[in-house]
Amino acid sequence: MRIKNKGIKTKKKSTKNRQWAEKTMNLISGCAHCCKYCYAKAMLVQLKNNTIDNWKNEVIRNPYLLKKKFRKRDYLIMFPSTHDITPEHLQENLTFLGHLLAAGNKVLIVSKPHLECVKSMCDAFIPFKENILFRFTIGSADSNILKFWEPNAPDFNERLESLKYAFNSGYQTSVSCEPMLDDKIDQVIQQALPYVTETIWIGIPNLLIERLSKNGFEDDHITMDQACALMKLFSDEYILSLYAKYQNNPKIMWKSSIIEVLKKYKIEIENDNLRTQVLSDNESVAGKDSFILADDFKSIKRNL
Ligand code: SF4
Repeated sequence: MRIKNKGIKTKKKSTKNRQWAEKTMNLISGCAHCCKYCYAKAMLVQLKNNTIDNWKNEVIRNPYLLKKKFRKRDYLIMFPSTHDITPEHLQENLTFLGHLLAAGNKVLIVSKPHLECVKSMCDAFIPFKENILFRFTIGSADSNILKFWEPNAPDFNERLESLKYAFNSGYQTSVSCEPMLDDKIDQVIQQALPYVTETIWIGIPNLLIERLSKNGFEDDHITMDQACALMKLFSDEYILSLYAKYQNNPKIMWKSSIIEVLKKYKIEIENDNLRTQVLSDNESVAGKDSFILADDFKSIKRNL
């Protein structure tokens, strides 16, 4: 078994769950999108920092965060990671992001995007355009499927329109197809690809049954049956066919859940497919300052 890591560099030791950036920041507790599989909800409910019933209510964690002056960090900061940027708290998110960007930070903005919010961010942050990378989560091109798993998040068309708006406004853009919510992710890739300047990340749902149970769906037979049916779609054969189709596309990135499957078949992952781009004026997708996904890096080290 051999997976290349020649040339891999990390500037700082990465910590658990820092897959796309070395630091994550959050402003809000709870999330109105109420995704059934939400890892943040499962984690924070387990830690007794929130409750299943209260998760839908978004609350600013601390008003001080809206006045906080940040210092410039020399690494990419991901915002948010345990909530989303929804219309309800758009102004507060703009304020927080504005302070972060004004300090010179480079920010990866991750969202199941509302067009209203994306328009506001794109219009407000023109002076910081070079320091922003948008990453929009789109796990299916079927809005009915999105509605089932992510009941209060925007539908497919709104997410695609958001991607187009950011792209046409001259921002750097990327897409996360993690978690994939059906076996037709080609439809997302094909429609999103023309509007992606950076990368599209592919991954299967992590710990789906466990997180659904923690999030209160243990006795919801429809949801649990759908979860079992969904996971059955992601056979090794399906993952291998997906990999075969996109392995030479430099914009397609494989999350650790996919890499684990490929390793079983002694498939070598090129270094370029383990990188995410740090925002820089003159860097290519596999630029030399790229960050490594922490989980992927660990899995590589284990297998050397
Ligand atoms: S958008 Fe993210 S934080 Fe919000 S409920 Fe969905 S998975 Fe959780």
